[in-house]
Amino acid sequence: MTFDENERVPTQYHPSWFEGYRYVYPVVSRRSRGVSLGVNLSPTKLCNFRCVYCQVDRGENRAEIDRAIATTVPEQASSRDVLGRSHSCGGMVDLDVLESEILRLARASLDGELFKVERFAAVERSKRVLRDFAFSGDGEPTLAPQFPEAVSRLADARRRLGYDPLKLVLITNATRLERPEIARALDELCASNGEIWAKLDAGDPEWLRAVDRTAIPFETIVRNIEFAAKRWRVKIQTALFSWRGAGPTDEQFLRYCRRVREIMEAGGQVEAAQLYTVAREPAEPDARPLPNDVMDRYAEVLRRETGLSVEVFYSR
Ligand code: SF4
Repeated sequence: MTFDENERVPTQYHPSWFEGYRYVYPVVSRRSRGVSLGVNLSPTKLCNFRCVYCQVDRGENRAEIDRAIATTVPEQASSRDVLGRSHSCGGMVDLDVLESEILRLARASLDGELFKVERFAAVERSKRVLRDFAFSGDGEPTLAPQFPEAVSRLADARRRLGYDPLKLVLITNATRLERPEIARALDELCASNGEIWAKLDAGDPEWLRAVDRTAIPFETIVRNIEFAAKRWRVKIQTALFSWRGAGPTDEQFLRYCRRVREIMEAGGQVEAAQLYTVAREPAEPDARPLPNDVMDRYAEVLRRETGLSVEVFYSR
């Protein structure tokens, strides 16, 4: 879920910020407005999307993942990881390690030790605030079999820190939010000052297939976001970019606005939308950033069509 690559640069490719760190990486995030501790539950980098703008380096797994996504039927794609294989094949997360990493980094952030490290020394004072623990990382977090338990561990770590403003955030492609075990975990996450940042990159199935390259039906994703927004705090995140020389047409973008509005009219309490464009080298070189003024124009249309508060994140 590399939704905020620009900010994740200092750590995304250096998760061992302290020697031996495996699952937790600190970033200074524009979206969080301070320090976010990213949690990567996807050591195998598996995802059920193959976004053209993804910035996760899947290295040798890439061909296998491409093949699996191309041949996966929707039902399998929505209920299993994309290769249909268990994360126990080298992908289990050691939750004790995760919990100790998050506590150590949270304390380093709260007591200022983090900013003695060269990479963070220049962070301005107003951003030296610990904002959240964010499930993000190198794939869809809810695919990880240990996701529910990881939520409990983070909720517990938050309690032990005794720092009430801290949020728990799930950054997700919204493909599995209705599953009972995920919903139960999200009840716990949201009871711990949690919120969900759900990806909706398109307003129709064709556009979704073109940019996210997934076998999961568009309607499943919309239904999941509606389900989530009726039950929890939800922000919608949307990647906008030029694909093969063109951004979304006005018609496509209006269709997207209409779907967001329908989610709200059905009772979904969407808190805000975040529009962002490509900020670093993407999976496909034909995915290019949109200029700032074009991003502003899309944001204006979305505000007008939905009444939502809309934040924009430019490529630079
Ligand atoms: S959802 Fe898309 S951007 Fe996020 S990890 Fe999967 S392929 Fe990459």
